[in-house]
Amino acid sequence: MNKVKLTDKILQLKKEKKALILAHNYQRPEIQDIADYIGDSIELSRKAMLEKDAETLVFCAVDFMAESAAILNPEKKVLLPTLGARCPMAQMLTVDEIKRAKTHYPDAPVVLYVNTLATSKAYCDICCTSANVVEVINSLDADTILFGPDRNLAEYAAEKTGKTLIPIPEWGFCPTHVLFQPEDIAVLKQQYPDAVVMVHPECSAETRRAADFVGSTSKMCHYARESTAETIIVGTEEGLLHRLRKENPEKRFIVAYEGAVCPNMKLTTLERLYAALKEEKHVIKVPEATAKHARTALEKMFLVKS
Ligand code: SF4
Repeated sequence: MNKVKLTDKILQLKKEKKALILAHNYQRPEIQDIADYIGDSIELSRKAMLEKDAETLVFCAVDFMAESAAILNPEKKVLLPTLGARCPMAQMLTVDEIKRAKTHYPDAPVVLYVNTLATSKAYCDICCTSANVVEVINSLDADTILFGPDRNLAEYAAEKTGKTLIPIPEWGFCPTHVLFQPEDIAVLKQQYPDAVVMVHPECSAETRRAADFVGSTSKMCHYARESTAETIIVGTEEGLLHRLRKENPEKRFIVAYEGAVCPNMKLTTLERLYAALKEEKHVIKVPEATAKHARTALEKMFLVKS
């Protein structure tokens, strides 16, 4: 089936099934173009909560994001087009690891990045995103905090808040964002001396120091809109550049390292999206005992002003 036909079929099925297509910022361009909403995982889950008429959510993203959508939208059917789309960083933190850390720091609250599995979220006090991590940490009446699974995000939040963040596990990381190196940014800066550099807080401290701006994907979109620079070097998964270019056609965006692709995000194709809608697969369900605790941690995060 050619691309135009496939797109038409997807749109037709979407209407018939009262489905919403939600695409993460790192999805393939053709998936972003067909989606009802593009954003980060929590932005998308919250959009879905407001869409009362939607019966099915097709979450074009990775496992933990579809889980969060299912937790926050229990009355809707949540589909993940590709079951193998798993975030390796989310898999790095286990419940046993959290329990072990708690025995060493019994009084420390546990803050988990939303990039975790629901089973882990059920064992934390509050969740955070890369957009609100500083506000969430500052909202807690504690100076020592257990934080997982991204060590770089923990370091970034510790720098911004002055608090002690104990990373769990010790070396959790995003395999895509650690590929950005300050040397590559330095080469690009020589080539484009007037360019500004923005990177994601999942990048290493050295890479963050080489940037003019550090922020989540939503904050990067905002920064790009507001910036007067004509050229912007971007240190995050290359999928975001499609959105940045569409929203700012007069500006030039250059990815700081071309190999920084999240293979799991790219597993969703138009063919797989079509099959997911047609066969209503793969349904993501979180057992209520787990969902209840994880939902509380997510809802506490929503109450923090950012
Ligand atoms: S970019 Fe990194 S954190 Fe995001 S889904 Fe891929 S591996 Fe996970």
